[in-house]
Amino acid sequence: MNIQENISLKKHNTFGIDAKASRFTSIESVSELREIIVNEANIFILSGGSNLLLTKDLDSLVLHINTKGIDIIEETNTHVFVKAQAGENWHEFVLWCIEHNFGGLENLSLIPGNVGTSPIQNIGAYGVEIKDTFHKLKAIEIATGNRKIFDASECNFGYRNSVFKNELKGKYIITSVIFKLTKKNHNLNYSYGAIQSELEKRKVLNPTIKDISDCVIDIRNSKLPNPKEIGNSGSFFKNPVISISKFQELKNKHQTIPSYKISKTEVKVPAGWLIEQCGFKGKRFGDAGVHSKQSLVLVNYGNATGQEIYALAQNIQKKVSSTFGIPLEIEVNII
Ligand SMILES: Cc1cc2nc3c(=O)[nH]c(=O)nc-3n(C[C@H](O)[C@H](O)[C@H](O)COP(=O)(O)OP(=O)(O)OC[C@H]3O[C@@H](n4cnc5c(N)ncnc54)[C@H](O)[C@@H]3O)c2cc1C
Repeated sequence: MNIQENISLKKHNTFGIDAKASRFTSIESVSELREIIVNEANIFILSGGSNLLLTKDLDSLVLHINTKGIDIIEETNTHVFVKAQAGENWHEFVLWCIEHNFGGLENLSLIPGNVGTSPIQNIGAYGVEIKDTFHKLKAIEIATGNRKIFDASECNFGYRNSVFKNELKGKYIITSVIFKLTKKNHNLNYSYGAIQSELEKRKVLNPTIKDISDCVIDIRNSKLPNPKEIGNSGSFFKNPVISISKFQELKNKHQTIPSYKISKTEVKVPAGWLIEQCGFKGKRFGDAGVHSKQSLVLVNYGNATGQEIYALAQNIQKKVSSTFGIPLEIEVNII
């Protein structure tokens, strides 16, 4: 094991925050991972670094998960069970599935990060979440080094949520994930307006999973800032879910407030709209800012610290709360 000391994590987090790790090593196998965790009291797990804001230097051994491998472990006439190691890049895994004509993940194309992290917040986009194709995951308990298999019900998936963000936060390291994908009669989901318009633009009448993936890639490239060009962590806040009665109250005061019905009693309100109404869209405070096209995305223009970005996030939360009475929940992991 090669442990580097006092290294910058700038290139290991998509916000581009220049925090330091007192010790850092790359993990290439599950056995190596188990050996380290039973001997080390203070570790931090780092994968793609696309869902965290580093507000301080890390005085721990940072384990950068780089375990690789994609295997078909079982097949039926209609479905295939594919296991991917935690360190596989998510988008490359999605492309692998599309190349093999395995359906179910195409709407999740181009989401940054790794496979092993995908269940933690039940990643989702364009009407699909990983819970829809999730079968099982393998993990190691940090306190004991014991292996455990979780099925979907044990993961307790919710909107950008799972047991790994709650009761089991920081207790397990996910080492591989198994997905159940379709081999034929793919259950395509192109109900989102943006995907439909893109398909129309391309004159595609009977889309394949690759058509959907290509559309999603183009839409994402046109809408979301590329972390290679400007530091960010995607959506910084969750879209708040409020009761229909609270929504009606707000609508009386703010007639243009948008909403998406999610149940008979609740609606989801776009956090980006709330932030924009509070005047933050495109605003810059030193090198920390709110993106000019997408208010849900906080950005690092170059040398912002994690604390500066966090302070901006807290100001936004206060203003949205005092204007609309809605608490905004942060989606990104604050470290
Ligand atoms: C431009 C952009 C767009 C995005 N769009 C979306 C989107 O559309 N939908 C969506 O859901 N998300 C989106 N995200 C968020 C992000 O891509 C996902 O949350 C992704 O799953 C994070 O993976 P990661 O490997 O980068 O995690 P990291 O940031 O490395 O880690 C996140 C957290 O998980 C812990 N962790 C990391 N690996 C493991 C492991 N193997 N086991 C246990 N704990 C672990 C870390 O300690 C940390 O607390 C976007 C991010 C960006 C930058």
